[in-house]
Amino acid sequence: MRRLLTGCCCLLALLLGPVSAWALDASRTVDEYTLSHWSMEDGLPHNLIHHIAQDRDGYIWVGTWEGAARFNGLHFTRYESSTVPGVRIEGVRAIAATGDGDVVLNLGRFEPGLIRFRQGQWSRLPGEAGTLAGVSCLKYGLHGELWIGTDSSLFRLDGQGRLDEVGAHPLLRGERVLAVLPLPGDEVLVGNRHGLFRIAGGQVSDWGRAIGLPETTVLGLAQSRQGGLLVGGSGGVWRVQDGQVTRISAQRAEAMLEDRDGNLWISTLDGLVRHSHGRVEILGERHGLKGRLAPSLFEDRDGLLWVGTTNGLFRISDGPVFGIDRSAGLRDGYVRTLVQKDDRSVWIGHPMGVDVWRNGRMEKVPLAGEGQGDPSVLSMALARDGGLWLGTYDQGVLYLPPTDAGAMPVPVRIDDHRGLPSNHVRALLERGDGELWIGSNLGVSVYRDGRMLRHYGAGEGMPAGNVYALREDRHGVLWIGTSNGMAALDADGRVRAWLPGKGYPAVAAFDFHDDTDGNLWIASDRGLLKLRGDGFLHLDYRHGLPNDTLFRILDDGLGSFWITSNRGVFRISRAALAAMEKGHMQRLPVELFTQADGIPSSQANGASSPAGWRMRDGRLWFAMSEGLAVIDPNNARRQRGQQISLAIESLELDGQALPWASDYAIPASTRRLVIHFSGLNMRAPDKLRYRYRLHGFDADWIEMGSDASAGAVYTNLPPGELRFEVQAMNAPANWNERQHVQAHTLTLQVTAPWWLRPWFLVLCALAIMAMGWVMAWLFTRRQRQQRRRLEQLIDSRTRELTAKNNELERASSEREDLLRQLAHQAHHDSLTRLANRRAGDEFLQRALQDYRREGRPLCVALMDIDRFKLINDRHGHGFGDEVLARIAEVAGQVMGEDAGVFTARYGGEEFLLCQQDVPWPAALQKLERLCREIAALSLVAPDGTTLACTVSMGVAELQPGQDARALMRVADERLYKAKQTGRDRIVAS
Ligand code: GH3
Ligand code: MG
Ligand code: MG
Repeated sequence: MRRLLTGCCCLLALLLGPVSAWALDASRTVDEYTLSHWSMEDGLPHNLIHHIAQDRDGYIWVGTWEGAARFNGLHFTRYESSTVPGVRIEGVRAIAATGDGDVVLNLGRFEPGLIRFRQGQWSRLPGEAGTLAGVSCLKYGLHGELWIGTDSSLFRLDGQGRLDEVGAHPLLRGERVLAVLPLPGDEVLVGNRHGLFRIAGGQVSDWGRAIGLPETTVLGLAQSRQGGLLVGGSGGVWRVQDGQVTRISAQRAEAMLEDRDGNLWISTLDGLVRHSHGRVEILGERHGLKGRLAPSLFEDRDGLLWVGTTNGLFRISDGPVFGIDRSAGLRDGYVRTLVQKDDRSVWIGHPMGVDVWRNGRMEKVPLAGEGQGDPSVLSMALARDGGLWLGTYDQGVLYLPPTDAGAMPVPVRIDDHRGLPSNHVRALLERGDGELWIGSNLGVSVYRDGRMLRHYGAGEGMPAGNVYALREDRHGVLWIGTSNGMAALDADGRVRAWLPGKGYPAVAAFDFHDDTDGNLWIASDRGLLKLRGDGFLHLDYRHGLPNDTLFRILDDGLGSFWITSNRGVFRISRAALAAMEKGHMQRLPVELFTQADGIPSSQANGASSPAGWRMRDGRLWFAMSEGLAVIDPNNARRQRGQQISLAIESLELDGQALPWASDYAIPASTRRLVIHFSGLNMRAPDKLRYRYRLHGFDADWIEMGSDASAGAVYTNLPPGELRFEVQAMNAPANWNERQHVQAHTLTLQVTAPWWLRPWFLVLCALAIMAMGWVMAWLFTRRQRQQRRRLEQLIDSRTRELTAKNNELERASSEREDLLRQLAHQAHHDSLTRLANRRAGDEFLQRALQDYRREGRPLCVALMDIDRFKLINDRHGHGFGDEVLARIAEVAGQVMGEDAGVFTARYGGEEFLLCQQDVPWPAALQKLERLCREIAALSLVAPDGTTLACTVSMGVAELQPGQDARALMRVADERLYKAKQTGRDRIVAS
């Protein structure tokens, strides 16, 4: 398995930037530093800080009464009994960081020994040092040796782990070591309750007394950058140089530190005292530095000063922004306006009048007589004579004549008694010709030499609003910002106005800035505007500005505008504005400074002017609602460009921190991977911006704000090699500025689960193929069987159907035969085979219709066998049937089967004989012939006798209007007549 976390030892940290050589700006007063504070509420193990150190990666370490903590500028990682199993960390008095990234600290009150933090893991120091009791002091020497002071002696731990007691001397034994200072040549100075001692070549000497150091407990020892040594203790602080001891301070020094600029910082009971270039200042409770100062002072590699107290951890920084507020002597925090005079004094207007900031001190400027309240000051303007114009809330304009520095001027008033239309003055400007232009809520008035000269109001085309700003551009045009639009007064007296809704894209105009390219920028309540020939360029929150209401624009002369808003003060580069205007940029990169950065309030003041001033030293001061924001643009630029370091702190797999193994792969079963990383910028940790990406997994970069504590979280990682990359830079995050971006990458090998390994996949493929083949075989077999069964079924069904069909056909023909038979039987007589009476009647009906329709004649004869009863009686009924059949046969033959001839048995021995279309005589002739042929029959009876038989007939012809019944009655009557008249005859009339 390959080594996955390449250079695992680098995991803990990757220091990319060079060590900064910054120090706290010595030219600032202690008021101009920014103080930050952390306590247990912020994650410290305890508020009593014993010791502060910084490791190779830049983390700040603190030892407290309850354990140690590592600080990345935003969060503390606590190392105490509950978080480090196996040891009891409590009361950490000494911390030493090594050059190779380790941190060594003492375990504390309850457990003797020293432990070491290396690559994210804690371990006890090997050998006797691992169990050394009562450690009070740790200091690495110039040769990598560790000097260990304890409550009773001094030890030296060499690079090979050998521990020697060097304090086994009557002067040191039994005394707690309070300070250690290794010197070249394997010498060391030791401070304790009895003074200062020197160990050289195994010999201990009472060096303090030898050089004339007064009696003192020695609490601190340091090499001075200005040469010699600094010794601090209960009796004060001394410099020891060339055998001379010079007292610097007589106050008890709990801790002492000389910073890179040579300023000496001393922890005293009064606070933190700074000795700087002969000046002594105290940074104390007034500035928020609270708590009895503990003996811990530390200057980090960025030059920031860290102070440990009984009340938590403090950081003193000189960021690009800081505040001047009431703690510095400002009488009212609600600053409306300020200007700087040539003598560098800054005049600050607020509701309680005017204060002046001169030589780092705030002084009150009396504006009213004794016992009277000072007027509320809204605006200011410099007078050419070195005086100052003040616009007030309700007392018009005050003039403060110049005076010798230090002396306070006597104000002169210009108000409604002198013709000013309103005493509410928010803007002032003294122009080159000595005219004072006064902006009030009733327009602009012009004053000179005790006289009100002109007035520009609504009547002169001015916007009808409160005048907020009066600025003259390089062409002599006066720009007037109001609560209701803006106006320009040209040199020839022409007024141009831009009103809301009528060409002006905002409502209020708070400030104008005539830039070096000749553009006019306007701070409005709808964002930043630039006047163009065709209207305005309009930039607001949609383009990345933090707020739309913008008050003051100042150019820092370094390529950026600084603009105030109610969300803080922000920097925006003119290059970015130009790129935005050209459409090369979608969103403006804005660097925002808020209360969190050290300005007294994020809310700026405007609507009166000037609400900000560019000072002679290049700093920008702004009027805020809680004081003044002071910005050092140079510093800001440097801060942004400041190199930061980026460290990957740990990897966490399903809640378990990754052990620092050299060979490592992430198992497939991992559900959640968290990669913790931290950028280190102790100067401005909240300016850090991060983005990270798991190449091969994340489609794009994932951006983070300043807080990276959540880490990068991944779930359901796919198997394979993945490259994790994290980048950090100072805000604003413009990732194209490669020179400001720090990056770190990490390769992760996620193993595949067994069901995704190649052998298993091949096995699966083979199994699938085999299964497929079996299934296909089974399928075809079943298909074949089914086809066979189907064919058989079709055969048998076809056979069955054919049989059924045949049967049906047979049944059908039988049925037809039967029907035919039935139909025949219905119309024929079975004995004689002649038509029966029903058929005879039907013929009669048809013939009747034929007669009626077509007049076809019809002859009907009823024929009855004479004395037939006798034949039956004499020769039996069977013979009678025979006779009947014979006579019928003859009748059928004689009558024939011509169309229109019809012969039927009409009753027992009665016959109906019909002849249609046959002329009456011919019909009679045929009937007569029939009679004769019947009579000629010779019938042989069963008894052998021969007998003859005759018939009688009644014949009738169908008459018009006659129906069948009437015709038959006529025929029947005539038959009856034939019988009556002797039988064997035909009666036809
Ligand atoms: P007449 O000359 O007045 O007609 O005398 P007759 O005896 O023929 O007439 P009658 O009405 O008294 O008798 C008719 C007889 O015909 C009576 C009946 O038994 C006989 N007869 C009717 N149908 C059949 C038959 O189908 N077979 C036989 N054998 N006799 C029949
Ligand atoms: Mg009869
Ligand atoms: Mg008869």
